Amino acid sequence: MKDSDFLSSTLGTIDRSCDMAKIDGRHCLILKSISRGLAVEYPLAHDDGSTSIVRAYRFQHNGARGPLKGGIRIAPGVTGAEVTALAMLMSLKSAVLGLPYGGAKGGIVADVNQLSRAELERLCRGYIRAVYPVIGPDTDIPAPDMNVSMEAMGWMLDEYETLAGRHVPAAVTGKPLVLGGSKGRVTAVAWGGIFVMEEVEHRQGEQYATYAVQGFGNVGGNMAMILHNKHKRVVAVSDSKGGIFNGHGLDIHAVSRHKEQTGSVVDFPGADNISNEDLLELGVDVLVPAAKEDQIGERNADRIKAKVVLCLANGPIDRKGSEMLAARGILVVPDILANGGGVAVSHFEWVEGREGLYWSGPEVSQKLKDLMKRAYRDVYDTSQEYHCDLYTAAYVLGVRNVVEAMKARSI
Ligand code: NAD
Repeated sequence: MKDSDFLSSTLGTIDRSCDMAKIDGRHCLILKSISRGLAVEYPLAHDDGSTSIVRAYRFQHNGARGPLKGGIRIAPGVTGAEVTALAMLMSLKSAVLGLPYGGAKGGIVADVNQLSRAELERLCRGYIRAVYPVIGPDTDIPAPDMNVSMEAMGWMLDEYETLAGRHVPAAVTGKPLVLGGSKGRVTAVAWGGIFVMEEVEHRQGEQYATYAVQGFGNVGGNMAMILHNKHKRVVAVSDSKGGIFNGHGLDIHAVSRHKEQTGSVVDFPGADNISNEDLLELGVDVLVPAAKEDQIGERNADRIKAKVVLCLANGPIDRKGSEMLAARGILVVPDILANGGGVAVSHFEWVEGREGLYWSGPEVSQKLKDLMKRAYRDVYDTSQEYHCDLYTAAYVLGVRNVVEAMKARSI
């Protein structure tokens, strides 16, 4: 799938959701438009004395529900179309979770593997200088996404505060604790997914034991670790270099050490190497795509064997793929619900930054649990109201809630 297909699939999903929710054509049109798209180019000084020009984006989708919010990803192939689609998903996600945010997304076209730590820091600081006019604690609040660490968010906050000439801890989220980060932010997406799965198990009257997790970064790595610690059987994990499988279950602590030492999960002793495609098609109870968009679509949906697909990545399944899985009775927990733990704890962090008061780890965990379970129930109730699957229901609820805010503003 090309990134423009990711955008057209997202637009198609919004169209269909508007139809189902009986949203008028005018509001649907607005929902399918971007309110501001900033493309920038800025110089990056390299350690060898050379300079290159970096292209980057900050796209803002719909601010009817509140300030815009969304992560920044760094990847060699990131494009404006991809960032547009991701910004739209952010608006709908915040609306599903009941958070007072609109959606935004940032992208920096760069390969983190080709940069030294000092170059990465300059890349992040340069990005903030370039997008400074359109971000801020009341306008658009960046957060981490692919290849952006907590340390990088610390550099970005520092650059923002240097430009602002004052402390503004609510200007970014996902920053280090010592700079006003929230307890539980690093593991928030994974824990959010766990809490949603508890509701799914309760509703389905079934306990799911075996898991395959695609992606071993912030989201997938933490998810695999939490599942392992909860004595679930994680039989397969993967990263960009490939996957590993052991039907008896993987020791995720040992896999994590192996990845630290070798740079990949591949060639882990005691497991078979498999491809990322193979991982998706394993006969597990729960498949967790936690790497990137466009992993399941028309080309492979008929080969997926999991009972549940928990979408922790953004956009891992396209509309056609989700329809094919639903037709085969496979329960798809959509991204805008399943991975909402990240923006939920980012919201706590933003509130903490504005108030100067911080919650303890157990308090954050309880608040996240309550929020995710309530969001699951809202999506479930919507699926009953519209006689549709969870994936469709989440998008219907998302567009309905954003349009309600637009109407309250007479937009
Ligand atoms: P990350 O950079 O920490 O990790 C990404 C992982 O995916 C790495 O292990 C990488 O090797 C792997 N990967 C990359 N390409 C792959 C491929 N083709 N096949 C298999 N694995 C591949 O990123 P992350 O923050 O964990 O984000 C992962 C997904 O979760 C993204 O879709 C992101 O948008 C989404 N997400 C992240 C957050 C967050 O707060 N970090 C919140 C919500 C959603």
